Amino acid sequence: MGEFDLIARHFSRPAQSDSVEVGIGDDAAVLRPTPSASLVVSTDTLVEGRHFRSGVDPEALGWKAAMVNLSDIAAMGGFPRWLTLALTLPEADDHWVAGFAAGFRAAATSCQAELVGGDITRGPLTIGVTALGECLDAPLTRSAARLGDVLVLTGATGGAAAALALLESVTEEDIPPSLLHRLDRPVARVAAGRAARGLAHAAIDVSDGLLADLRHVLDASGVGARLNANALTPDTDLQAAATRTGSVAAQWMWAGGDDYELLVAVPPTHARTLLEIWREQGLQPIEIGRVTEASGLHWAGDAPTMDPVSSGYQHF
Ligand code: ADP
Ligand code: MG
Repeated sequence: MGEFDLIARHFSRPAQSDSVEVGIGDDAAVLRPTPSASLVVSTDTLVEGRHFRSGVDPEALGWKAAMVNLSDIAAMGGFPRWLTLALTLPEADDHWVAGFAAGFRAAATSCQAELVGGDITRGPLTIGVTALGECLDAPLTRSAARLGDVLVLTGATGGAAAALALLESVTEEDIPPSLLHRLDRPVARVAAGRAARGLAHAAIDVSDGLLADLRHVLDASGVGARLNANALTPDTDLQAAATRTGSVAAQWMWAGGDDYELLVAVPPTHARTLLEIWREQGLQPIEIGRVTEASGLHWAGDAPTMDPVSSGYQHF
């Protein structure tokens, strides 16, 4: 099976939206942005063995590859619109590509985004995705957190890190679905990000680990934070996983990666409104602390016990 057969069978589809003037099949896609909208663009690469385990279900991988990019659009408060996919494959495995494409398309469709182009080459399994979205008014950036802002998460963190830790010693079937789902089936918080526009000052999606990503916001905004060490409490599955692997649940919740919840800094006057909207969206938001003038991180109460060197994923 050649490159063009794979594209024709698994990726070429009639355009879903009027915004796609020319879709898959030509030299380039031609898109029609909404007049006066700003384009929001983000690219992420997933490398086998680094971002995902070898042998992972291709459908889950396709889903996640799309979602981690859509999550960046969500974190800017944008509408996801279009995606491109650069796929590097060791071999033309039709069955594998079918699963991957189905997962990718399901994730894209759930966020109202459409695959409009890409590339397939041979090499070590690597997935590059570009997501394009739109913002009709000011996007949410990392740099606009202000003194006194409340720091709120769209939901609990740590589940993906717990699943990853469990995978070192047990098989997938022995991992509680609630945790494995957090690792393999993240959901971009698109509606939550859009609701935060006009209410929150700043936002980021939690991909590298909560504290590491919070630090990006604090550094970009020139502020610090005081965190409530008791804000995050492990649920039963997370605590059981920690006990089983001899790990500290707090480490996963505060520093584990791959959560894809949003973290926003919202002024106290708007915090209640935003929390209500997020709850109506079915989320269970968590307030973790406040933005302070003093730079750096401070803890109200005892700081959680964590390994100080592993406070977030870095490649180099
Ligand atoms: P070119 O040689 O002009 O770069 P290709 O032969 O690589 O074009 O691709 C043919 C068409 O298929 C293009 O429209 C391209 O965007 C699309 N395409 C290639 N690979 C993928 C993919 N993995 N997913 C979606 N579209 C793809
Ligand atoms: Mg090409």
